[in-house]
Amino acid sequence: MIDYHTHTSLCGHATGRMEEYVEEALRCGLDEIGFSDHLPVKDGKENNLSMAFGDLPEYVRKVAHLRKTFPEIRIKLGIEADYIPGSESYMRDILSRYQFDYVIGSVHYIGTWAFDHPKERNVWEESDVDAVYVEYFELLRKSARTGLFDIMGHSDLVKKFGYRSKADLSNVLSDTAQVFKECDVSVEINTSGLRKPVSEMYPAKDILTVFRKYNIPIVFGSDAHIPEEVGRDFDKAVFLAKQCGYKSYVTYEKRRRSVCDL
Ligand SMILES: [Zn+2]
Ligand SMILES: [Zn+2]
Repeated sequence: MIDYHTHTSLCGHATGRMEEYVEEALRCGLDEIGFSDHLPVKDGKENNLSMAFGDLPEYVRKVAHLRKTFPEIRIKLGIEADYIPGSESYMRDILSRYQFDYVIGSVHYIGTWAFDHPKERNVWEESDVDAVYVEYFELLRKSARTGLFDIMGHSDLVKKFGYRSKADLSNVLSDTAQVFKECDVSVEINTSGLRKPVSEMYPAKDILTVFRKYNIPIVFGSDAHIPEEVGRDFDKAVFLAKQCGYKSYVTYEKRRRSVCDL
């Protein structure tokens, strides 16, 4: 089993040493752990949301060092990149500078609104929830179409605080799955939603079922921000994947995908 979504203290809002994340992965019996800290954002300011631009070389070096320290487990160099329309060329440039194993593309912003940030939760109260959902999935499709990402991160994060669209989303979801298929991206089953107000896996069963229908590959991620969260609730994630009809998951090395039996 693999955990492809973990953070480090470099992003300013995760704690623990990277060694401890690897040790926890070993304790859980994982075959692979991938680090996927937040890619520095375009303006490069320290904001406690992503790594500072100057920290990226250290991050890459640290992963290389860990591979030598822990030869008993495969350690992957990933990154989680925020999709912000207009920043594509910046991202293309920065992503080309290092040999990442995979890039997770995540939508955390609608316009300038960090819709999943606890400090901006109040904006939900004055928003048209149905419209927010439509916009969110539109951004997901747009992000897949950039070709910059291998894995679409927590692909129904919009539900985090429990605000739900009352509209019928079936067309939106099948359009999204269709675009993911065309762009050859995978999705992650991200267990962190279970630890959030919505108390649900990202994505929910009905959405994962649509992805399965379109044969979108899956990876697994805990979105750990502390070492103890590595591999958290993976028994439930595997159960969900199987319930939705998945028989395999995928791994990445230098951005090339391989298939593993579930
Ligand atoms: Zn984070
Ligand atoms: Zn994220």
